[in-house]
Amino acid sequence: MKTSVVYLNSYEKVKRQMEQVAAQVNISRDAVEILKNPMRVLMVSFPVKMDDGSIRVFEGYRSQHNDAMGPTKGGIRFHPDVDMDEVKALSMLMTLKCAVAGLPYGGAKGGVICDPRNLSEGELERVSRGYIEAISRLVGPDRDIPAPDVYTNSRVMGWMMDAVSKLNQTYTPGIVTGKPPIIGGSKGRNEATGRGCVYTILEALNLLNTPVQGTRAVIHGFGNAGRTVARLLWESGVRVIAVSDSRGGIYDPNGLDIPRAEQVKDRGSLQDYPGATRITNEELLELNTDILVPAALENIITAENASRIKASLIAEAANGPTTAEADKILGKKNVTVIPDILANAGGVTVSYFEWVQNIMNFYWSEEEINSRLKQIMVDAFREINRVAQNNRVDLRSAAYMIAMKRVSEAMVARGWIKA
Ligand code: NAD
Repeated sequence: MKTSVVYLNSYEKVKRQMEQVAAQVNISRDAVEILKNPMRVLMVSFPVKMDDGSIRVFEGYRSQHNDAMGPTKGGIRFHPDVDMDEVKALSMLMTLKCAVAGLPYGGAKGGVICDPRNLSEGELERVSRGYIEAISRLVGPDRDIPAPDVYTNSRVMGWMMDAVSKLNQTYTPGIVTGKPPIIGGSKGRNEATGRGCVYTILEALNLLNTPVQGTRAVIHGFGNAGRTVARLLWESGVRVIAVSDSRGGIYDPNGLDIPRAEQVKDRGSLQDYPGATRITNEELLELNTDILVPAALENIITAENASRIKASLIAEAANGPTTAEADKILGKKNVTVIPDILANAGGVTVSYFEWVQNIMNFYWSEEEINSRLKQIMVDAFREINRVAQNNRVDLRSAAYMIAMKRVSEAMVARGWIKA
């Protein structure tokens, strides 16, 4: 169970990381001060009619962090633990992520405090419509473009696109990304976060001279990002020995059959996978493995468990899964951490492709999407690795250095600050 202190740490953590990196990169104090604060945060509450006829008031947020490089962009999370500090931290990460991938966007993030697992389909639709209507004055294809995140998906994006199109009385597919393809969604968007993460893992294995075949991987979280990473690694020949969801994990040292695990999960619970050992999420993180992919929520690799982590490569498919204290411990153990702002940038990259296609009203093939995605992820990885080597810093610091420099240059070019 997370506490507000943990969330405060998420926000403080990003700010602290920015301060540390600022000392190593040539940008002004003004730029750092601007980047440490979101430019706009909206808190909304909206009434929703529940199936039993009662009215329940939901609370949500939208944080727009910085729009120096373009309209703001970022997902919407439906989760009982959502709070304003978390949303602010995630919007800051989005600014950095878009800059790392070289996308013409700033960062934003949204969230609604709710547990979709306890909502009926109709209630979920009314929460989705209620939230987007409540923040509608902030969003638009040239202002702020939401996307899916934890416990939201293409269906939710479809409802939100419909709600805004009706409000504006104009068909506006570019208002959100991650929509179903039939209403302007991009091919490949569903898998983009996991696919992009796998491109960075394969690039890192190459760099570390580690063969792909037979290398062991553990995936924490089996949702949109986690199951795609698991399947694509499995298809590449990696031995995926454990996966988990919020209820716990399954483990087989000889390797799981990931398409089978997907079928089992779709029919009910991962725990029904035959022949595997059931383990807790805590045990899963500490398994003997080569690769660990956190793909659920923040702050799961902490000062408490970092020294017991055995993986030599961690790819952060989730946002903010490693605390600042844990980062230091992993650094001392020479663990390579592919930071979230690179490892999960595939989602926003294909969201960008979706937005471009919506504007052009011309749609690309899945092959084209995947090959453009690969190019961006591999180029970004190599650039970050080059900066890390040149400055003798870890990949996270290098990614922050590149991102902060780019956004700072944009703010200078727009005349907000002096160089
Ligand atoms: P999702 O809702 O599809 O899946 C979340 C998964 O995490 C589910 O399998 C859930 O059971 C599991 N989970 C929840 N609580 C858990 C816990 N305490 N322990 C273990 N597992 C738990 O969400 P998603 O879209 O895959 O997002 C996962 C992470 O990836 C988040 O940090 C999100 O911000 C990040 N991310 C997602 C995208 C995207 O395009 N979906 C893009 C960038 C980053």
